[in-house]
Amino acid sequence: AEMTSESPWAFVLTATGSIWAAGVTLLLLARGRSSPHLRSATGCALTIWLYSLSMVGDSLFSCRLGNLSQVTQIFDYLSAVFCFASWVWMAVLVMTRISALEASMGQPLGLQEVRWVIVVTAVTAALCVIFVLYSWSLVFVPLPLIYMLASAYGVTSVLYLIFTGLVIRAFCIPLRLLKEMHTAGYISKETWAAAVSLGQLQIGGLLASTTTTVLSGGSIIFGSSLQFAKLDESGRDMFTFVDFPLWLDIIANSTCVLFLTGAVHMPNAVLGNALARQRNRAAMLGSSGSVLDRQWHEKVSELAERGFTLESLLSFYKRLGTDYMLHYKSDVHRTSDVVRQAIIPLSRPSGVAYAVTMMNGACSLPDAMVTHNWGNLFRDLVAGICADALGLSEYALVSELLDRDVVALESMLANSGKIQKTYWVCAFCIAQHSCICHSISARDVDPVHGMEPPTCDCGWPKCFNDTPEVDALGRSVHCELNKFDDMMGHIARIDDQIEQLIVVDSKFDLFTRAWCVAEVAEAFRIGIPQKMKIKCGQVLHAFEERLRLLKVQEMEASRPEDVAEILAKIPDKDALNAQLQTLIFDENTGLLAQWRILDSTEQLRHFGLLARFQWLRGQRYQIPFDKICCHGYTF
Ligand SMILES: [Zn+2]
Ligand SMILES: [Zn+2]
Repeated sequence: AEMTSESPWAFVLTATGSIWAAGVTLLLLARGRSSPHLRSATGCALTIWLYSLSMVGDSLFSCRLGNLSQVTQIFDYLSAVFCFASWVWMAVLVMTRISALEASMGQPLGLQEVRWVIVVTAVTAALCVIFVLYSWSLVFVPLPLIYMLASAYGVTSVLYLIFTGLVIRAFCIPLRLLKEMHTAGYISKETWAAAVSLGQLQIGGLLASTTTTVLSGGSIIFGSSLQFAKLDESGRDMFTFVDFPLWLDIIANSTCVLFLTGAVHMPNAVLGNALARQRNRAAMLGSSGSVLDRQWHEKVSELAERGFTLESLLSFYKRLGTDYMLHYKSDVHRTSDVVRQAIIPLSRPSGVAYAVTMMNGACSLPDAMVTHNWGNLFRDLVAGICADALGLSEYALVSELLDRDVVALESMLANSGKIQKTYWVCAFCIAQHSCICHSISARDVDPVHGMEPPTCDCGWPKCFNDTPEVDALGRSVHCELNKFDDMMGHIARIDDQIEQLIVVDSKFDLFTRAWCVAEVAEAFRIGIPQKMKIKCGQVLHAFEERLRLLKVQEMEASRPEDVAEILAKIPDKDALNAQLQTLIFDENTGLLAQWRILDSTEQLRHFGLLARFQWLRGQRYQIPFDKICCHGYTF
């Protein structure tokens, strides 16, 4: 005990640092793991904790056994290794965030340079660690080693500051663009405030972490050079100055891991979307003021204002099979069947879009535009929309509830506060009597009784892609079928919060339909946030292969002229194919990733709803528990 170099102070300091790091790790373990990024952050926090624990062990044993005992040296090595590992991990986490931002913005933010700087920094930092460990094994540190330590530390610090600068630049690029958007009045005050606080958090946190890391690195070097002071009674107090920065570094880094990785994917994706919208806005605004253009835009805004509430959709659904389309069977009838045999007959007297009738004329701009394929079961389309309102990512359970207990579902939706959310679905929002009501094809044969539905004899004038009047590009001005991309752009301009809801059928056929893919690609291009609902996650892997082979050239549509027109709008088809793959599969921003990544609050809500579903099912239908679990929810 004569050899004690560290005061009890040092022990208390490292112990509090360790408790803090333990708290952060436990909190992340309890909260996180829902996304790869949060799992990685948890690992990083754990490493910081282990680093602090080995420091505690180190100061404990150096008090009891002296600095040069073997046990103390083992802890020396452990703390060096964990310190280095946690530092590298922190950098990797920062780079993951930049790469997510880069992916969602679709433009480089200097990730490549950041990567190089961090690799070089890691090499010089490793040199530092080796020198430090060597000096710890010595009773007296020679002057040349002190010089080498100091210079390795100097180079590492400068490199690390460059890294920090590059990262700050990466976060500032989107912030600057957003500021321009804000000044031009394109984004709301709230969106801008959210972006600013996100940027402040990221940059401030990074600066705090860098400062304390550089300080603590310095103090380790300083302390190692002071190794000789351990033999001197007066040198002992010096170690308080060494331990304090180390303590600060542990606190700062673990706190940064906690706050900076919180739900980092989602804000980044939102920012990226806003920026993409900014980039494409200029293109959308460029229209001349001719009479035909004006008429075209009037039609676009007329179409856009046909959103209907979820409540009205449910009341339509409840009467299906009892008040109209009496033979409706939810597990065989597709959206196209319901259009032919319920929506078209019901809207025949007025000739207008059925949404207008459903809403008693009080249609509005939608909160979400729904992309779906007409071959999907109509029940599953409705279930996908309800799942969106309930915040669920799969809709199999909702489909079941639609079959068994619409009233229960309705009360859940009413409780969720989303029953007044408005949607835009082509089946309801396009006036079918202005286009397809009179033409029946073999695909429209009813799957239950095998007969073609009767053609409509309403006699309303029909208007297709090339029906006069046409604009300079030969596009029909009054046609309701050729304006979906303009309409999306129009709504996105008016409403910052508009989102696209993609209801994928159980066989993933949606991704082979030209219209659907065109809508998905267009929403992506103009930066509308996209949400995807699939029926059941368990079957996803079975269709993944098929999705990976998607080619826009092989898409289908019921009207060949649509395919031609959609393909004509795509100058570089291979690029779009590649983009589609990114859109679906990208690890951070892809539709499937979104589906897999849920933040913790969403997860809790999810669990709550599932519990409620299961309770309802068990209560009312006495379905055994293992059957209820069949949809394989993975969290
Ligand atoms: Zn549609
Ligand atoms: Zn008709």
